[in-house]
Amino acid sequence: MLQGLMMNSPLLITTIMRFALLNHAGREIVSVTEDNPRHRYTYAEAFARAAQLANAFRSLGIQQGDRIATLAWNDHRHFELYYGISCSGSVCHTINPRLFPEQIHYIIEHAEDRLVFVDPVFVSVLEQLQGKLNSVESFVVLTDAEHMPETTLRNAVCYEDFIGSQAVDFDWPNLDETTASSLCYTSGTMGDPKGVLFSHRATVLHAYGISLPDVMNLGQRDCVMPVVPMFHVNAWGVPYAVPMIGAKLVLPGSQAGNGAVLYELMESEGVSFSLAVPTVWLALLEYLKQAGLQAESLKRICVGGAACPASIVERFRDDHNVYVHHAWGMTEMSPVGAYNTLKAGAKELPDHELLALQLRQGRGLFGVEMKITDDAANALPWDGKTNGALKVRGNWICSAYYKSDEAILDADGWFDTGDVATIDSEGFMQITDRSKDLVKSGGEWISSIELENTAVNHPGVAEAAVIAVAHEKWIERPLLIVVPHEDGGIEHDEMLNWFAGKVVNWWIPDDVVFVSELPHTATGKIKKSKLRMQFSDYQLPISNKH
Ligand code: AMP
Repeated sequence: MLQGLMMNSPLLITTIMRFALLNHAGREIVSVTEDNPRHRYTYAEAFARAAQLANAFRSLGIQQGDRIATLAWNDHRHFELYYGISCSGSVCHTINPRLFPEQIHYIIEHAEDRLVFVDPVFVSVLEQLQGKLNSVESFVVLTDAEHMPETTLRNAVCYEDFIGSQAVDFDWPNLDETTASSLCYTSGTMGDPKGVLFSHRATVLHAYGISLPDVMNLGQRDCVMPVVPMFHVNAWGVPYAVPMIGAKLVLPGSQAGNGAVLYELMESEGVSFSLAVPTVWLALLEYLKQAGLQAESLKRICVGGAACPASIVERFRDDHNVYVHHAWGMTEMSPVGAYNTLKAGAKELPDHELLALQLRQGRGLFGVEMKITDDAANALPWDGKTNGALKVRGNWICSAYYKSDEAILDADGWFDTGDVATIDSEGFMQITDRSKDLVKSGGEWISSIELENTAVNHPGVAEAAVIAVAHEKWIERPLLIVVPHEDGGIEHDEMLNWFAGKVVNWWIPDDVVFVSELPHTATGKIKKSKLRMQFSDYQLPISNKH
């Protein structure tokens, strides 16, 4: 074999930091913290403080590979931790503070975190757990001395004191590019959370991938606000891609649910691109409508983590002139797998076709191979109609869970996402269901997601879930479970008749149950496993649909 004669430098998060320091040192990072509603400084200052962190770790004897946890919202200190921890060779373990305390306990114990950095607002959660957190040597509260809360946490110190006396430069190690950089547990609907251990190489490749024009189209002139939390798969990779590009970064702290603060940040800081889950966008749209405001600065947004409703696309387009990109991914994929940017010529499509296309989850990124398969693992056609198990392979996709023997790849190295999808001839993928939730009636797929989407379009429905219930003839049939709006009063037959003409007849749920609330996972998804258990003995009325 004739070898190429090119240099081979390791793909390290450290190289993003070095590049940003040389090229974008003066670019701003603005954030909201509990001790300062509008903190602002530059990349140069952020990375100097990351070096102070690394020096503090060294003085404590933190070794390469050690796990260091964060329970924190999106702000500048969390950003410094991303770089200070990973670039010194340790692992930045971001924890979702909204998890149930038992899960936080499980995760910290499983990861054997040595230090935990915690926002003041989450101190009390850890105080209750600390007796059981055997690996944790000390807790660092993400604030300054003036705002340091009274706490019983052992060896507690405030962040500003933790780094304050340290030197502002650090001899960053030349790591192997496959070194672990960060760790994120997926909540899952069943069993214990599973740890996804990211590497420097995967993180850098993912940052390249998401920056591309047909993906997030990031440029130096952008001002980017990730509302998606930094504990949700590294805020979808944005804290790495943005310094690589040199865009301005706006971090909204704990204010993701506060439309007034988000709007004010967007307008005053000039945010051009922002990312969040559908719930956040729906709340912001409602706030803007109530307040009679228009988003002037924002140009485009990314909606991911759950299916994007048509109303988000339409209302941003019509009321605010903002373009909506739908995206799909998962923790195991760093997370971005597909991103919806239209191809040349698409604008000529009739409005309803254009909208339908825009609502697909998007095209696979270069770096992520996608395929759909049948039950026997045969590849299915990309015809936009055939549903199959969505499988992925690539450089930023998980090959095993942390400390787990479970084999998660097939013999050819494909990872089954647990999602069910179609892919059209242009490569646009659409999630039609999750295999865990799938309703397979008489051997044919029924999309519970589509039924749920149809149900929530009924004005009297606040939330809806569809689960498979055992059926003598068809093996499974769909049961609809609905939370009506408070003033709702929907009749049983009226609810079921709502589906007529909107989905094929045999898809119409066999029955509907009205409940006051649905169970949710800590990340806000409906906990189908619990519903399936709750309704496992449910007797459907005799039906001959199909
Ligand atoms: P997580 O690892 O918590 O980010 O969850 C990943 C899962 O969320 C995926 O496997 C999908 O089931 C779901 N998901 C993510 N993005 C979307 C989307 N745009 N549309 C529908 N489901 C999505």
